[in-house]
Amino acid sequence: MIDAHLHLRDRRIRSCHARFVREALEAGVTGCIACTAVPEEWDIEVDCSWDVTDAFGAHPWAAGVLPPDWAEHLREVLLRHPGALVGEIGVDGIRRVHDCGALQRAVLTRQLELAVALGRPVVLHGARAWVHLFHAIEPYLKRLPAVLLHGVSFSRDLLTHPVLRSADRVWYSVSGAVCSPDAKTLPALAAALPLDRLLLETDSPDMFPVGGDPLVLGSGVSPYNSPANLPRVCATVARLRGIPAQELAEITASNARAFLARR
Ligand SMILES: [Zn+2]
Repeated sequence: MIDAHLHLRDRRIRSCHARFVREALEAGVTGCIACTAVPEEWDIEVDCSWDVTDAFGAHPWAAGVLPPDWAEHLREVLLRHPGALVGEIGVDGIRRVHDCGALQRAVLTRQLELAVALGRPVVLHGARAWVHLFHAIEPYLKRLPAVLLHGVSFSRDLLTHPVLRSADRVWYSVSGAVCSPDAKTLPALAAALPLDRLLLETDSPDMFPVGGDPLVLGSGVSPYNSPANLPRVCATVARLRGIPAQELAEITASNARAFLARR
C-alpha cells in the first residue's frame, strides 16, 4: 500500500517520526507522498527508511501569511528536489480566515505556473470549494503532467463536471473520512470513482479515522493520525466497492505508481 497523502514534516509529529514510519511499515504501507503546507517545512530534510515522494507547496490556509519571497523559495526547493511534486496547493472553503477567493486563487495560480514550468505533477486540496478548484485548474490541466485531487469529498454527481470529464490526467485520493458512519456523500463517491484512478490516503497527522489507532494523543481533543491506519481506509473502500481489500491495496498501489510515473 502507498499512502497518497500525508504530512511527514508536520511539526506536531517530529518527535515521534521513527514510530510513525516503523508502524507504517509494519502495517504494510511501503511508501507515501509527503506533502508540505508552509515554507517552514520546505527545508527540512527527511531521512528515513521509507519510500517517500516529496511534495512542496503552500496550502491555501497559508495564503494570507506567506513571506514576500515565498514563490522564489519554493522554486529553489523544487529545483533542489528534481523528483518532487508541487503540493499541497489549492483552494479551501472550510477556514474562511482571510480572503478565501482572490488571495488563495492567486497563490494557487502562481504554483500551478511553477508546476507547468518545471513539469511537475500537483497535489490539490479543494475541500468545500471543489467547483472553484476545477475552474482554477482548467487552464493548466493540459499542460500539467498529472493532477491528484486529495481528500475528495464532493458529490458523486460532480464526476461528470466538464473539467473532470475532459481530463485524462486526473487521479483521486480517498481519506479516512470515508470510515465515519456520519459520512454523507463520500461513500457513494468512493464507490463510483474510476478504479484505475483511485488512490488511498490518511492525511496524517490529521483526519483520524473512526476506529483507527492513534499515533499519540494530541494536545487537543483529537488523536494524531498515522499511516498505519491506511489498511482501515482500504478495507472500508473495498467493502463499498465489493472487492477484496487485498485486491484494492494492490490496485491503488499500482495507480499511485502510475501517477508518480508522470514525473
Ligand atoms: Zn493534507
